[in-house]
Amino acid sequence: MSEASEEQQIFRVLVVEDEEGIQELLRLTLQKHGFEVLCAASTEAAEDLLVDPAPHLIILDWMLPGESGIAWCRNLRRRDTLQGIPIILLTARSEEGDRVHGLESGADDYLIKPFSPRELVARVQALLRRSYGGFSPNRVRIGDLYIDIKAHRVLVQDQVVSMGPTEFRLLRLLVTNPDRVYSREALLDLIWGRQTYVEERTVDVHIRRLRRCLESYSYAHIIETVRGEGYRCNPVPPPAQNLSKVP
Ligand code: CA
Repeated sequence: MSEASEEQQIFRVLVVEDEEGIQELLRLTLQKHGFEVLCAASTEAAEDLLVDPAPHLIILDWMLPGESGIAWCRNLRRRDTLQGIPIILLTARSEEGDRVHGLESGADDYLIKPFSPRELVARVQALLRRSYGGFSPNRVRIGDLYIDIKAHRVLVQDQVVSMGPTEFRLLRLLVTNPDRVYSREALLDLIWGRQTYVEERTVDVHIRRLRRCLESYSYAHIIETVRGEGYRCNPVPPPAQNLSKVP
């Protein structure tokens, strides 16, 4: 499937969580995936871990003893040197309705407890990629389908699969985040940008075009529709690859 980035940078993640079990789960999961992890049980303790050097990303629990995660998040966003650090807010299921407030406080993403370690890692990687660029792999391979991210080229056994720039951006986002389901709204934000006024059905139009580009090579199935949710990549090659069918 995907090859790892050629230059591996070690990313430092600060975890602010007062529940020991969850803090430990976060620490172990992130360490297993090659991250350096710092932990704090309160925002007060976390303050000491913000410098020399600053973390690349913060995972912040909403409910903490003393200052809440949200209040601290707002506070960080007001400080010149720290306002750019990406933050993932952890919220309990009961607080789910309030997640908008979490994002308004300046968090970049949120994760609802209980979460799967797989989802956590996917979110962290996606946010690092969005924030620092260059973190995504240069090439992704699914069977005979070869996506050269840097050269903006898609090949099947040396034949170029032609597609428009929007279709390429959609494909690139989906194949480099195979764990994640993207809602139409999220795709609009990430591909078209928040400033543009584009209707959600435009996403469907471009997804259809992308599938049509991949169809002649039997790869349309890798762009999966998740009913009621959006789209995701299913990075599995076709069962039998018969390239004589390729025009
Ligand atoms: Ca807590």
